[in-house]
Amino acid sequence: MTPINADLHCHSTTSDGTLTPEELAARARANGVELWALTDHDEVGGQQRAMAAAQAQGMGYLTGVEISVTFADETVHIVGLGFDPESSDLVEGLADTRDGRGPRAREMSEQLAKVGIEGAYEGALKYVGNPRLISRTHFARFLVESGVCKDTGDVFRRYLTEGKPGFVPHRWAKLGDAVRWITGAGGMAVIAHPARYKFTPTEEYALFTEFKALGGGGVEVVTGSHTAQEAVRYAGMAREFGLAASRGSDFHSPGESHIDLGRLPPLPADLTPVWTVLQERVH
Ligand code: AMP
Ligand code: MN
Ligand code: MN
Ligand code: MN
Repeated sequence: MTPINADLHCHSTTSDGTLTPEELAARARANGVELWALTDHDEVGGQQRAMAAAQAQGMGYLTGVEISVTFADETVHIVGLGFDPESSDLVEGLADTRDGRGPRAREMSEQLAKVGIEGAYEGALKYVGNPRLISRTHFARFLVESGVCKDTGDVFRRYLTEGKPGFVPHRWAKLGDAVRWITGAGGMAVIAHPARYKFTPTEEYALFTEFKALGGGGVEVVTGSHTAQEAVRYAGMAREFGLAASRGSDFHSPGESHIDLGRLPPLPADLTPVWTVLQERVH
């Protein structure tokens, strides 16, 4: 039996993607996606449009979000799937999580000005689709446009990551709060792209252990951020911790993302896919 083509991680203009929910839905469908979720950063404002667009394209839909969390002094992303997007705890928690982004962006701009890059805040704003959500990605696009860097990856390496001039440390939501907002709204919490975090083995073990104890349900095994070996490693972690497995491209933009919607390898056959657990939550 062919496994279903599920893509449960991507971004629209409601966060740091360059396509609208409708454009993403059409692109997902054209690439053969059968079950889709839009997972904007810290924001569920695109969910109704995404759900309607998925229905118009004849795809199944799970509500989605990607919450920024601080764990062991590192930023960790927790994806939520299949929740009620109108849950007041979730909506208020996300609003609080987004709150610091404006001041952080202004500070990033001041730091960049000190190394000779002027007007980065105003420049980044031109790329912002949702005034509540300014992210490093928008700065990256401005720095590419202004010729400072050749691509967004280069911007992150040279300017926007820890120890680099435009990096401003930030405290996001607590792991327990993010998991509670999602599960309290009837959804499943999923650890996003675990290979991306710079954890020691002990810290990583602590993340999985605490996440599981808090009621977390899944982990991304196959993602645009993982190599084939990393997928094997986190399939092992899903087995060890009894977590369901998710699959998502983390698509942001046709020009920037090298993995397109729906174009991912299948999950290892013995794992329980998150969409099996969330069957009742599919629209
Ligand atoms: P923020 O939430 O403002 O800290 O921005 C995080 C976003 O920046 C991520 O969701 C990615 O879209 C993007 N990002 C982080 N690291 C990189 C990288 N090395 N190359 C390209 N984009 C990145
Ligand atoms: Mn992003
Ligand atoms: Mn992420
Ligand atoms: Mn993402």
